[in-house]
Amino acid sequence: MPEPASAHEPYYGSAAPLVPASGDLPAVASAAAACEACHLWLCGTQTVFGEGPADARIMMIGEQPGDKEDLAAHPFVGPAGAVLDAALEEAGIDRKTVYLTNAVKHFKWEAGGVGKRIHSKPNRKEVFACKPWLDAEIALVKPDAIVLLGTTAAQSMLGPSFKLSQHRAEFLPFSVAPFVLATIHPSAVLRMPDREKRHQMRDEFVRDLKLVARMLEESPKRPRAKLALDAVSLSAKGFGKIDATMEP
Ligand code: SF4
Repeated sequence: MPEPASAHEPYYGSAAPLVPASGDLPAVASAAAACEACHLWLCGTQTVFGEGPADARIMMIGEQPGDKEDLAAHPFVGPAGAVLDAALEEAGIDRKTVYLTNAVKHFKWEAGGVGKRIHSKPNRKEVFACKPWLDAEIALVKPDAIVLLGTTAAQSMLGPSFKLSQHRAEFLPFSVAPFVLATIHPSAVLRMPDREKRHQMRDEFVRDLKLVARMLEESPKRPRAKLALDAVSLSAKGFGKIDATMEP
């Protein structure tokens, strides 16, 4: 079993130089599989790249792969993925039509005793390092709608000052896609101990997804332009300046 992230001296970099200047999703996924741009490559079992149709109208972005995803190398196949699946079905969205990915592609965890791996939230430097992979996925898929699942994903795209509590379920003016909406991460439903509140959270999550489904029903699919991955590989922008004062 690999050591947890805290056991290593972190290497904070950016994946930008590793993103191929051209190619399709499999080519980018293949490059990401060898990524060592931050120390999380020592922590997770493998890179868990996004999955879904290359021309998906909806892209959903979570925080990072969990324990199950890390072992399976597929996003959203664990307990949070089951919550997402049920919510998508209720919202009338076919999961097979959605491109699912995460802001960070390696599982960050801490030892929880008896071989248990406990999720550890990626910090801003790790999110920054991984952002070029996410930028490349967006450039290639060119979705009509991006659904940001949770604060980490939302801040990865919208900046560290974004507050989910203030802008949840709003369609946000952001140039990467016609419709960008932030909502909770499905794991938040699982973490809610109170049964009644848990059901309420789930209902509100479904409500948010229905907003996206309805918006797309009323909007034509936008044409796919030729992507410019070289622009992704040359820029690590969109997250702001990283400095030594940032919290771990
Ligand atoms: S978390 Fe992202 S940037 Fe860090 S090593 Fe993994 S793929 Fe590379």
